[in-house]
Amino acid sequence: MKKISRRELLRRSATFGAAGLGLVVLGAGCGGEEGPNCNDTSGLTPQQSSTRSSLGYVANSPHGAQKNCTNCNFFTAGSANECGACTLVPGPIAGEAYCNSWAAKA
Ligand code: SF4
Repeated sequence: MKKISRRELLRRSATFGAAGLGLVVLGAGCGGEEGPNCNDTSGLTPQQSSTRSSLGYVANSPHGAQKNCTNCNFFTAGSANECGACTLVPGPIAGEAYCNSWAAKA
């Protein structure tokens, strides 16, 4: 195993630390203004994922703003920068999404 001097260790730490900080700043700049990821279904059970697919959930409604989750009777909007929820479809729900169970808001 190659030994490195304390000076070399400090130099490397400073270099990688600065690079790491740059990545954090870039990440904050890139992700900060995007909305939440309502397609992340990693927290769902296989059965919940299956329900989501069988109801034909799609992230972007083929009907546009005319028929999407935002104006569906089963949708509950999330607070700012959060996904909404649906009574029928498990998991995070995007306002612009759609599924085959869409029903006009009462
Ligand atoms: S029933 Fe379908 S269209 Fe209505 S809110 Fe749930 S996922 Fe969206």
